[in-house]
Amino acid sequence: MIELNGKKARVCVDPGHGGHDSGAIGPSGVRESEIALKLSKEVMFQLDDLGIDSYLTRTEDEFISLSGRVEESVESDCMVSIHCNAHTSQAQGIETIYDSSAGRHKALANYVQQSLIKHCQGHRDRGIKMSPSDAYPRKLFVLSAAKVPTCLTEVEFISHVEWEKWLDSDEGQNQIAFAIAQGIKSFLMSLPGAKMSDDRKTERLSMTTKAAPKSEEPIEVQQAPVMEAGAAGQLAEDTAKRIVDEAKISISEPSNEEAKIEVAQKKASGTESSGGSKGSGLKRKSKRKSKR
Ligand SMILES: [Zn+2]
Repeated sequence: MIELNGKKARVCVDPGHGGHDSGAIGPSGVRESEIALKLSKEVMFQLDDLGIDSYLTRTEDEFISLSGRVEESVESDCMVSIHCNAHTSQAQGIETIYDSSAGRHKALANYVQQSLIKHCQGHRDRGIKMSPSDAYPRKLFVLSAAKVPTCLTEVEFISHVEWEKWLDSDEGQNQIAFAIAQGIKSFLMSLPGAKMSDDRKTERLSMTTKAAPKSEEPIEVQQAPVMEAGAAGQLAEDTAKRIVDEAKISISEPSNEEAKIEVAQKKASGTESSGGSKGSGLKRKSKRKSKR
């Protein structure tokens, strides 16, 4: 498991929209709110596999105010808000947004974005975008009001007929969730005071053999989720460090040309509503099973 200063790391996963706010709707009627919830539940599952505690801001199709979401996140070490993008039928790609005011938010966005691009192949990398900025003019409340490192990821365009199918498929959801969980893990491991202690592995070894073998690879493979062969190997212990290193190298803002295109596209698109409405201040009872 991953510990931060001696405590088990804990992540808040925020499924965008819900209830009367369906978010964007795909060409065949798939709702963003529904996909966001399915993805978030899968991310929780994947994080659990990595020894990271997590909880959701909503567990069913219900409306949660933006301030309610931020409120839910305060007891976590970071929050990832999950959305799907929407624009013209041709628009495609994955992008992750962070707020301009805190440096760590950018790091989280970068780890999540890099991991999505790495594990979900064949998708356009639209990069990480600062909100508000020329590349992303809108201010998003869940980011600007965040008390912990927070990013909002837009996993593909639900308005694209092929990507709508992918978003709605088990295969697509597994890929996305695996990638987001790996990105979160890399971010947590980059924090000061982060430590990976592998108590599960110790238990397993003590059950099977007295002397732990030097090479623990077969055990790692058993723990890997069912993914393509390359992804299974990603669970090796050096993964976090490698992704960290790669992410450091590739941190970059989109080019000006790209930024202009993005601005034009975002201006033309009015479908994303996560930053628009003000939260009602609704404070929910936590649905968490366990408190730290
Ligand atoms: Zn959304």
